[in-house]
Amino acid sequence: MKISFVLSLVSLEPRDTLLRVNDATSPNFAAMKAVRDELFADTTLPLYAERTANKMFPVIGEGSHEAKIMFIGEAPGKNEAAMGRPFCGASGRILDAVMAHIGFDRKTAYVTNLVKDRPPGNRDPLPEEIAAYGPLLDRQVATIHPTVIATLGRFSMAYIMEKCGLAAELQSISKIHGHVFESKTDYGPKYVVPLYHPAVAAYSPSMIEVLKKDAEALKALLK
Ligand code: URA
Repeated sequence: MKISFVLSLVSLEPRDTLLRVNDATSPNFAAMKAVRDELFADTTLPLYAERTANKMFPVIGEGSHEAKIMFIGEAPGKNEAAMGRPFCGASGRILDAVMAHIGFDRKTAYVTNLVKDRPPGNRDPLPEEIAAYGPLLDRQVATIHPTVIATLGRFSMAYIMEKCGLAAELQSISKIHGHVFESKTDYGPKYVVPLYHPAVAAYSPSMIEVLKKDAEALKALLK
């Protein structure tokens, strides 16, 4: 009994349980797994060397492969790159509180990032990193085809609004957080809602109320 348990662990792909190719019964599983496999194998990705040198994991995302809503952050932080899971540190606890406020179960959404490896020292992602990792996100969006994308922070806001033909409506996040934009392209979602990055509430606790209020728009869209 004990031996077979150990063997079953040994036979897993390395850390597969942490890498969240979940929803194996979903019709979208194969396409999502292909994106994950590519993320793992592509040695040309700009943060690949940083990942391997520091024994970190790429973070593909997790949640339902048939989600009606995707939450898209910026890039994994230290905890996320150590675990191979998105939003599992301080920002993740804030995101969970925001979702709980609108009665969402995180498992029914899909949570991922624009850049899928941790930039050194948590610096902002560089344009060439966004250009290299963006196509992986595009494929995830095309596969899941959610009704709503909630962007978390200014980088995913700019990227997704541009893809959805909303570049002309792009303003600073302090002006357009919580607004509902209707996509003008067939990129994927019907609606885009920019939210502040949950980390802002880690620095200014009063911001959690702003995040919760903005998230109420999501609930209305998914009714
Ligand atoms: N910040 C992000 O943008 N993404 C994470 O997964 C964690 C922190």
